[in-house]
Amino acid sequence: MTQNTDYNLSLFERAKAVIPGGVNSPVRAFKAVGGTPRFVKRAQGAYFWDANDQRYIDYIGSWGPMILGHGHPAVLGAVQKAALDGFSFGAPTEREVELAEAIIERVPSMDMVRLVSSGTEAGMSAIRLARGATGRSKILKFEGCYHGHADALLVKAGSGLATFGNATSAGVPPEVIQHTLVLEYNNVVQLEEAFALHGREIACLMMEPIAGNMNFVRASVPFTRRCRELCTEYGALLIYDEVMTGFRVALGGAQSVYAQHIPGFAPDITVMGKVIGGGMPLAAFGGRREVMELLAPLGAVYQAGTLSGNPVATACGLATLKEVSRPGFYDALASRTRALVTALEAAAADEGVPFCGDSEGGMFGFFLLPELPQNYAQVMRTDGARFNRLFHGLLDRGVYIAPALYEAGFVSAAHTDEDIAATVAATREVFRTL
Ligand SMILES: *Cc1c(COP(=O)(O)O)cnc(C)c1O
Repeated sequence: MTQNTDYNLSLFERAKAVIPGGVNSPVRAFKAVGGTPRFVKRAQGAYFWDANDQRYIDYIGSWGPMILGHGHPAVLGAVQKAALDGFSFGAPTEREVELAEAIIERVPSMDMVRLVSSGTEAGMSAIRLARGATGRSKILKFEGCYHGHADALLVKAGSGLATFGNATSAGVPPEVIQHTLVLEYNNVVQLEEAFALHGREIACLMMEPIAGNMNFVRASVPFTRRCRELCTEYGALLIYDEVMTGFRVALGGAQSVYAQHIPGFAPDITVMGKVIGGGMPLAAFGGRREVMELLAPLGAVYQAGTLSGNPVATACGLATLKEVSRPGFYDALASRTRALVTALEAAAADEGVPFCGDSEGGMFGFFLLPELPQNYAQVMRTDGARFNRLFHGLLDRGVYIAPALYEAGFVSAAHTDEDIAATVAATREVFRTL
């Protein structure tokens, strides 16, 4: 099947003249997979339409936020009503209190929360808070986990064990990342060694509990348990970056999933974004009262934002959280997502394609690999050229998955059994061409 991409192409040409790379966030540019990005004209439910009015089943959902699908009537209504009352005041509003209450009610590890505008901002603020709370400088992160584009976090592992890393971006001075340790995800031995060497200097360990920025990789339960134990033993704070997983994998976030396996499990600080804004720029970080009270204006850790707690964004977030809190919401979403992954695995087996997948709640990942990877290096064993053929084959058939093999996928409440079946049929066709 071929399609006319003229309007996308001409928009891309125009965009490239005035916006670096033609996009406002790099992964949108299709650089990894090649071809022309689809410029979205409008979206409804599980679909969006590009500049040529071509329809796609959307498995990105704005990279996670659109858990209800696009244009949910209750969310639209709340946003329209809020907009009429004013866009931004730079003064507190009742809706900020309501949203803060709604978040902490559902995530017991948080006594207090501060609202911000992006996951990047929330993550960098959480690190400043952890450093302020501990009086320490070092931070520990894992290769393949993304926590936003703050300088100190744009680091990949150096050579050798438990070394301090190298910047992954130009413009990040070595002095700024000298305190950032980068370890392999799910590697308990490295974790133990890093704490044995540097434990008393570590302010925080920051992690994605289910990594969604190296496709979909779960932290194992023993690894998660050791992260918690070592942080407690050495007085470091455990920061759970649930920007992607929060209100996406379960109502209580990924931490509620791990708490089922590790009694009493809770992170010290949680970072959220994506779903809590329902598609509007909104993110948050929160934790125990004594830690959060270190923030200005109460404490000495400075953090601020002109548009923080924006009244239209909080209305969007609140309406979204209300919908996902309905009984059975996550059970239905999880079973539909699991059905997709299971059917794709069956189709791959029929067609003799090495393939495996995993999902939690409304988040999934699949790999052109014989078994599920445990860390970034294993994810990157995927045959990139093969993935690109799969991506473009699906795109040609009206199915839009992430344009890079190291991204997770998202199912919304608006995806129907028919959408799933159509996706599986399209994928089966593409498998035959691989
Ligand atoms: C998306 C994401 C971020 C960054 O959020 P932005 O709103 O894009 O700044 C941080 N952490 C994780 C886990 C994410 O998925």
